[in-house]
Amino acid sequence: MASKRAIRRKACKGKVRHLNADGAQIALAKLFRRVGYTGHMNVYRCRFCNGYHIGHAPRTT
Ligand SMILES: [Zn+2]
Repeated sequence: MASKRAIRRKACKGKVRHLNADGAQIALAKLFRRVGYTGHMNVYRCRFCNGYHIGHAPRTT
């Protein structure tokens, strides 16, 4: 089982942190506008820093 530190590094470290979901959504829209559709990206709440990050949608289905 991976350590919490490793999980944090993958899910949080190195990513842009947004203070709220609206800011993250705006950043995501700008990203799409700039580079085009890059796949299933979404905004998710980060449990480590309590911010919001943009990332690939988790495969929950
Ligand atoms: Zn984070």
